[in-house]
Amino acid sequence: MIVIGILDLQGAVSEHYDITKKAIENLNIEAEVKPVRYKDEIKECNGIIISGGESTVIGKIIYEREIDKVIKENQIPVFGTCAGMVLLAKKTDFNQNLLEIMDIEVLRNAYGRQVDSFESEIQFLDRNFLGVFIRAPSLKTYDSSKRDIKILSKLDSKIIAIQQGHNIAISFHPELTEDTFIHEYFIKEVLKCVE
Ligand code: GLN
Repeated sequence: MIVIGILDLQGAVSEHYDITKKAIENLNIEAEVKPVRYKDEIKECNGIIISGGESTVIGKIIYEREIDKVIKENQIPVFGTCAGMVLLAKKTDFNQNLLEIMDIEVLRNAYGRQVDSFESEIQFLDRNFLGVFIRAPSLKTYDSSKRDIKILSKLDSKIIAIQQGHNIAISFHPELTEDTFIHEYFIKEVLKCVE
């Protein structure tokens, strides 16, 4: 039995909750999904999902509640979407609290403002997927000397999904689609850690 926690501080939490439940059903595994807010709850999770929202706000609360420490100490796999991707980075173009778990540098709002939001057919690995981009970040650089880094998706020349170890950062919003593929992909990564 694994537990997937949806970090419930700010942002699109309920959408992630619903799609993670569906992904678990599709995989037909013993797993629980629950919204989590404090470090003691997070310690009990096998994987954490960080939603889109406002990364400065989420990052501030993460630090106040020492959630970063618990995630790092227990090496809990993290799946971050949009603001979640920003939070996984070592560095962004803004001065803000970050988890600094992945060796990536991220550019916030790389596609413009809220009104510039768009949808696009993308390829995630070898699978077609609908990318929903809302004030989305993109990847500026990654540490190519790290052998555990894998590019999962690109749009034009920009990297929009990347994995390092069991952590996954993507700039779009799979939780706003009906497609559970990427959530299933993350859950399978989490399963590898508990085997
Ligand atoms: N631009 C936001 C940030 O950097 C992320 C937007 C989103 O999550 N939809 O925090």
